[in-house]
Amino acid sequence: MSTPNHEVKSGSDAVPPASSVEDSSTVASRPLIRFDVLTLFPNLFEGFLSESILKRALERNLIAVHRHDLRTWASNKHHQVDDRPFGGGPGMVLMAPPVVEAVEAVQALTAPPGLVLAMTPSGRRLDQEWVRRLATQPRLILLCGRYEGFDERIIELLQPELVSIGDYVLSGGEVPAMVVIDAVSRLIPGVLGDDQSAVEDSFGPEGLLDHPHYTRPRLYRGLSVPEVLTSGNHAEIARWRREQALQRTRQRFREAVLPTIPNAPYGSAPPATE
Ligand code: SAM
Repeated sequence: MSTPNHEVKSGSDAVPPASSVEDSSTVASRPLIRFDVLTLFPNLFEGFLSESILKRALERNLIAVHRHDLRTWASNKHHQVDDRPFGGGPGMVLMAPPVVEAVEAVQALTAPPGLVLAMTPSGRRLDQEWVRRLATQPRLILLCGRYEGFDERIIELLQPELVSIGDYVLSGGEVPAMVVIDAVSRLIPGVLGDDQSAVEDSFGPEGLLDHPHYTRPRLYRGLSVPEVLTSGNHAEIARWRREQALQRTRQRFREAVLPTIPNAPYGSAPPATE
């Protein structure tokens, strides 16, 4: 494994010192999960990590996100990490040496080495079941592609899990990496205001979609809140919500070609049209 001459940049190291957090009793002694993002554009994560739920999770040291600029491992003075494809064709390909050496160096920064995930449209589509499994890991290394993608030897050598966030093509792996960080962090205990939220969200243990939600005003543009929700009858409310969740789930997946949610109420094939 070769190591770059210069120090590994951990980008933001977005976790502030505990003393800067108001309620120190809520600051964990060490993060429950560490993400290392390898990217050509570490600044893209700036806004994403500095607002709302993830900002608070970072402040409370529940998660840690370290960003690493792949150019750090470029071997020439122009910091070039891509080159033209053998065999011709448009675009540029991320070269194997800087990317493989970057991943190896970042893994060696601390134990454990972490599970490597490469963002690619040809990967398996991310779903909540996979997210749940990822959330049990102490460390995830997220590799963001650009241009035409990775030299195939990067995949052969690193043997990462290949993550697609859907059947469309984005300009880079940064948004998919953000998707992984966001979806996984929500499942880390303490990150959401109420840990029960994640259980009741869509794709929970039963594989159901969420039920409809309403808040004030009771009447808006002629549309009123279903009466049951204002009845105060908790058993009825729970029954109504479950029926709605089942109905939505059946409707949404009726025409799905590849339903992937385990334990979903439609079984292994979409239900017949009602
Ligand atoms: N030539 C590649 C292909 O057709 O599969 C597309 C490369 S894309 C322009 C550049 C990078 O964006 C990829 O290497 C990958 O990291 C990321 N990317 C684009 N779409 C993605 C998706 N749906 N899921 C995950 N990563 C994606």
